[in-house]
Amino acid sequence: MRYLSTRGGMPPQRFTDILLGGLAPDGGLVVPERYPAIDHATLEKWRALPYADLAFVLLRLYCDDIPDADLHALVRRTYTADTFGSDDIVPVRTLEPDLHLLRLSNGPTLAFKDVAMQLLGHLFEYVLAKEGRQLNILGATSGDTGSAAEYAMRGRRGIRVFMLSPAGRMSPFQTAQMFSLRDANIYNIAVDGVFDDCQDMVKAVSADLRFKARHAIGTVNSINWARVVAQVVYYFKAWFAVTAEGGPREVSFTVPSGNFGNVLAGHIARRMGLPIRRLVVATNENDVLDEFFRTGVYRPRGTADTHATSSPSMDISKASNFERFVWDLVGQDAGRTAALWREVDGRGFFDLGGTPEFERVAEFGFTSGASSHALRLQTIRDTEARYGTVVDTHTADGLAVAQRWREPGVPMVCLETALPAKFAETIREALGRDPERPAAYAGIEARAQRYARLPADVALLKRYIAERAPTVEPAAAAPAP
Ligand SMILES: *Cc1c(COP(=O)(O)O)cnc(C)c1O
Repeated sequence: MRYLSTRGGMPPQRFTDILLGGLAPDGGLVVPERYPAIDHATLEKWRALPYADLAFVLLRLYCDDIPDADLHALVRRTYTADTFGSDDIVPVRTLEPDLHLLRLSNGPTLAFKDVAMQLLGHLFEYVLAKEGRQLNILGATSGDTGSAAEYAMRGRRGIRVFMLSPAGRMSPFQTAQMFSLRDANIYNIAVDGVFDDCQDMVKAVSADLRFKARHAIGTVNSINWARVVAQVVYYFKAWFAVTAEGGPREVSFTVPSGNFGNVLAGHIARRMGLPIRRLVVATNENDVLDEFFRTGVYRPRGTADTHATSSPSMDISKASNFERFVWDLVGQDAGRTAALWREVDGRGFFDLGGTPEFERVAEFGFTSGASSHALRLQTIRDTEARYGTVVDTHTADGLAVAQRWREPGVPMVCLETALPAKFAETIREALGRDPERPAAYAGIEARAQRYARLPADVALLKRYIAERAPTVEPAAAAPAP
């Protein structure tokens, strides 16, 4: 398998070449040259596979430059009951006939991002050790990515993590989860700004190719291709869980979305041949994605127009993975992808409304909806009353939007993206009591916290990194520009 850039400016690369990188050198996103097709017989053969083995057969299609034996060992080490709480890894809970919850949040940081990130930790350590290299991971988080990355990378050899988060905008639990880590290779940086400021700083540092090479800067943000592909696996797993052998039978999925990484994995599963009917993109009040799927206009917002909501991991005003989907929409035409963008008031946007390309949105099964604080609270209450299950705020947005798109006889699978313990304040508001908390996290807010505070200033960030990450020999530098 070879990888290209959505903007056409990168010679074909192998998986291990792009694994540690961020954006392609031309500013585009890395995409596979094709989606391997899975026929029905193969699909049925995979039905009974344990999660790690299913991950292996799917991932080897995309990571064929890692020897099979090594890849198999890596996924087996990653997907254990020890790390994910059960042999199922991602159990499916049926709420009522044809309405299911895909429980993705039983990893170390209680959010779905662990599923991909734990694999990334193993993959990075493997490739770095093989090549005798070091890596300084620079990332931005609105909460869950950062903790998932830190718990996947803590204590790993040859890796440091520099994680930016918007000061005061994560929940106390999320903050404690990250800032209480004491591992010497973990650096938390609270930035005066919102998530998009953090993301812009990461992009600015990564765009300085000299600095990036000198300090072996890499990323684990949701644009990382390996994360996307690791998430493809659980769409297959869920499809097996809610269909009987002898299908094909179509299943719909609803995905609480922000950076468009999770639902993109569903799109790829569908393109590979998994019988998916609808992919429902659920947003909160930050509805840039919902607007696109309704109108064809993709209009990223600025900091001032980004609402701080009670589903904060979706408080995102530009979806960093979206270009991968757009590239597919325009027939994988890099020139067209690059040429789409217009500018108004110094901000990029594009409008596909009324074009044949926009009609492909429906062909790809996509639809969408937005939720709100009131709807979130109501859904948390209803779900608890009807099914005896407490869901977190993001999952509640998903469930609320899913109700609008259910069809008789078509199973709807809602992706649970976090556990309620992470968002206690809103659970209290909805239910008048605290959510259950796994024992390992009792009293976490009281632990000592360790972090640096920086203004949204790229030069200061570079200095902070340079003081802590020794310069590497240019020849041994990480991600080749
Ligand atoms: C990251 C996150 C999302 C959004 O996922 P994307 O892949 O960025 O679309 C939704 N819910 C929770 C709890 C998250 O942590």
